[in-house]
Amino acid sequence: MYFGLVIELVYPEKIPSFQAIKVIKSEEFSMPTKIAAGNWKMNGTQANILELQSISTAADQLDCETIICPPATMLTMATRFSKKVLIGGQDCHSETAGAYTGDISAQMLVDAGASCVIVGHSERRKHHDENSEIVKAKANAAVAATLTPIICVGETLQQRKSGNAVAAVSSQLEESLPKSSKIIVAYEPIWAIGTGAIPSFKEICEMHDAIRALLFRTHGKNGQKISILYGGSVKSSNATEIFSATNVDGALVGGASLKSTDFVPIMQALSKS
Ligand code: PEP
Repeated sequence: MYFGLVIELVYPEKIPSFQAIKVIKSEEFSMPTKIAAGNWKMNGTQANILELQSISTAADQLDCETIICPPATMLTMATRFSKKVLIGGQDCHSETAGAYTGDISAQMLVDAGASCVIVGHSERRKHHDENSEIVKAKANAAVAATLTPIICVGETLQQRKSGNAVAAVSSQLEESLPKSSKIIVAYEPIWAIGTGAIPSFKEICEMHDAIRALLFRTHGKNGQKISILYGGSVKSSNATEIFSATNVDGALVGGASLKSTDFVPIMQALSKS
C-alpha cells in the first residue's frame, strides 16, 4: 500500500496564493495494493505445501501482497504453513449454511483461515452456470463474512473480435459488484486463460482504465484504492510489461502459480514495478 500527500489546487487562478492550497489527508489518497494472486484450481495435495512454503519465504522479501487460493482440502494446512502469504478460497456459496451438498460458505472459509475468496471465475460461470447476479450474491456473502472477494470478469473471444470487450466486461462487472469497496477485481479475458494468448498491451491498458473509471463511478474516491489484477497466461516472460500498465495492480495467475520456481519471478516482477 502506498501513502501519498496530495496538494490540490482549489483556486488555480490565485496561484501561488497559499490559501489556494488544500492538503488532502494521506489515507484519503492511498493507492491500490500490489497483489500477486495464485489460483491453484483443482490441483494440489498436502505434498504441495512445500511449494507454498517457498512462495511464503520469497514473499517475505518483496514489496507486494501474495495470495494463494489452494483447493479447499488444503486451506487449513496452507494457513499454518504460509506466514507471509494470504490464503483464499476459490468459491463460496451465497448462503451462510444449509442443504447445499458439496458447497462451502464464506464463514467456513474464514473458519479455515482464509482471508479472501475468488468469485465469478469464468470456469465457475461456465461449468456451474453462474451469472453475475449469483456472483454478486456470493461477493456480498464474502463481504458479510469479512472475506475480501476477488471478483473475476472477462470477455469471450467473440466479444473481443467484435469490438465489444470493454462494454461486455463493464456491464458484467457492474452487475457483479457488491456495495463494499474492500474488494479486488480481476480482469481475465476468457480466451487468454490457460491458452498462452494474451491481449496486446494497449488492450490491457484500455480495459484496466475502463475498469478504474467504472470503480470511480460506483465507489467514488474509494474506487482508486481497489486493486485491479490482470489474469490470463501471465508468466515471468510477460509479467514486467503487463505490470507497467498504469491501472494494473497485479495478477491472478493459474498455471504459473503451481510451482514456486514459476510464480516467484512473477512476484518479483510485481515487487519491482
Ligand atoms: C486463471 O484461471 O485464473 C488463470 C489466469 O489461468 P492461467 O494463468 O493458467 O491462464
